[in-house]
Amino acid sequence: MTLPLAPGDTLGIIGGGQLGRMLSQAASRLGFNVVILDPEENSPACRVSQGQIVAAYDNPTALRVLAGTCQAVTFEFENVPARSIEILTEAGGLVAPGPRALAVAQDRVDEKTFLNSIKVPTTTFAAIDDLSSLKAAVASLGAPALLKTRRQGYDGKGQVWIKSDAGAARAWAAINGQPAILEARAEFVRELSVICARGRDGAVAVYPLGENIHAGGVLKTTLAPAQVSPQTKSQATRIARKILEGLDYVGVMGVELFEMPGGRLLVNEIAPRVHNSGHWTQDGCVCDQFEQHVRAVAGWPLGPTSAHAQVEMTNLLGREIRTWKSLAADPAVRVHFYGKREAKPGRKMAHVNRVSPLKAARVRARKS
Ligand code: AMP
Repeated sequence: MTLPLAPGDTLGIIGGGQLGRMLSQAASRLGFNVVILDPEENSPACRVSQGQIVAAYDNPTALRVLAGTCQAVTFEFENVPARSIEILTEAGGLVAPGPRALAVAQDRVDEKTFLNSIKVPTTTFAAIDDLSSLKAAVASLGAPALLKTRRQGYDGKGQVWIKSDAGAARAWAAINGQPAILEARAEFVRELSVICARGRDGAVAVYPLGENIHAGGVLKTTLAPAQVSPQTKSQATRIARKILEGLDYVGVMGVELFEMPGGRLLVNEIAPRVHNSGHWTQDGCVCDQFEQHVRAVAGWPLGPTSAHAQVEMTNLLGREIRTWKSLAADPAVRVHFYGKREAKPGRKMAHVNRVSPLKAARVRARKS
């Protein structure tokens, strides 16, 4: 495989959801062809791509075909089986981000252990293997504390708050006694995230911070660039750089942060992929997170990350998509619809970016 990829080359994407779709659209703009591997036929991503392989994410034959067809392969979600990456690599595929980033992000205990090892602060935590280790951890971390499954949890799923010492048994049963992590409650002021990228040459690029508002464990809105002090900004940049370099990472990464009273940042979790809280970059930056990821994976120089507009990104879940006509008629709103046919409850159907001038937003913040 030769780097950089040239326009006309083919990029493989594992996962055909909305992130794969927007990656494919960005790759297409740079002149690449895209092949999507997804078990679902007619996935949102494959409908904007040149090819699809309909197969399970761990199907060896399908992975070998993908490696043989594409000059580079990436993915849209972090739960790609480790074995799949091995098969791709053995078949001569050039995969980014690498297996270490995936392994770390797939296991909450390994993730926090890695972060602390490179001096990136997180909330205090303990690995939980059984009810007695959970009781001991509740006693040492104190209640309330949050019990999360080590693997496979996302959007607040597989998580139970333990409000008192007595709640341990119920919480353990609620997560079906799976290997878990107990986290001390972070008494954060607000939730922020930083989208960052590292190129094949080791160059690092960091976008302005976003402020995230969740509802029911799911991201609802991102306000960006977030109004933060220069110290918070440089703290986030330092954290991003340490993580990217610590994993010898290639691609875009989302880093979820808790801003603590006094301004200290804790990392909640990392996502080794483009991230929902980075969708604002599509209308707030010259080079959005999707193009940035493709650039990094393809071995191109990274693009600029500064913001030229203030953006309020809102996810449309389930039946909220029914408001599409009024949103499409609003000149301040840029709509990004994922082309999903069924509006199941809670399903991410689209997002909209409400765009306003950067300067005006800053002036408003100063007056308040
Ligand atoms: P996660 O799946 O880890 O991103 O958690 C989902 C949401 O739960 C976060 O966005 C926070 O709002 C909340 N949360 C997660 N961990 C903690 C914690 N240790 N302390 C307080 N809130 C948390």
